[in-house]
Amino acid sequence: FAFTDIRLQGVSYAFGTHTVLNHIDLHIQPGSIVALLGPSGCGKSTLLRLLAGLSEPAEGEIWFGDRLVAKAGWSLPPEARDIGMVFQDYALWPHMSVAQNVAFPLKMRNVPRGECEQRVMQALSMVGLAELAQRKPAGLSGGQQQRVALARAIVAEPGVLLFDEPLSNLDSALRESLCHEMSRLLRQLGTTAVYVTHDRREAEWLADRIVHLASGKVESVRNITSSSGEI
Ligand code: ADP
Ligand code: ADP
Repeated sequence: FAFTDIRLQGVSYAFGTHTVLNHIDLHIQPGSIVALLGPSGCGKSTLLRLLAGLSEPAEGEIWFGDRLVAKAGWSLPPEARDIGMVFQDYALWPHMSVAQNVAFPLKMRNVPRGECEQRVMQALSMVGLAELAQRKPAGLSGGQQQRVALARAIVAEPGVLLFDEPLSNLDSALRESLCHEMSRLLRQLGTTAVYVTHDRREAEWLADRIVHLASGKVESVRNITSSSGEI
């Protein structure tokens, strides 16, 4: 994984006259795990969509390392950004096997078939699902489906991983165990991660830093001291 830092400078976004993000300045260190926390409607998903290249800012700039990825009225498309994404609803393709779902980002990058198979199995092993490679998503539990989505997000070793409430559809015991599992995996990979949640506990289990959004502004930034030491 490449080590990428993320910098937002004066980023604003509005739906019509409704300002959702109001001059956001934020620096996310390479390899750190940042939770975006705040109540429903505070602009978390909007901010994540800007990082993903799914919409463009009205004002400001977004940088991944030394690469400008968005500015007012312009945005580098998602497939050109070196990102992996995990969504609340998993977003797996139902007609493809688990292995084909995970292989998809590699196919997009024209990775040769032999290397593709090896990396798919490696990613599935990391999430504990190697033996389910040939199943269809519909035959898996919600937690297993989200592990597949996680394997798909990491398989191409992107510099940035983006998570949009990935555990919200799971029951609370599973949410806690999968959250700790993701935390370990992210630390092992060392990739920069931004994790949107409205659940304070998830943010504390997972993140190095918690960025609290309120009314389109960064209200506070809090470092979480963890056993992994210096952030
Ligand atoms: P969060 O992810 O924190 O719940 P969002 O980023 O989804 O918040 O939404 C921020 C604000 O933008 C909310 O007030 C929401 O109603 C508004 N909003 C979101 N999507 C749209 C849209 N497509 N059209 C108009 N307003 C929207
Ligand atoms: P194609 O679509 O190229 O005919 P498949 O549908 O069999 O091939 O699989 C598509 C991709 O999914 C393969 O290139 C491979 O990367 C991955 N894949 C499929 N099955 C497995 C498996 N058992 N182990 C690892 N990777 C697999």
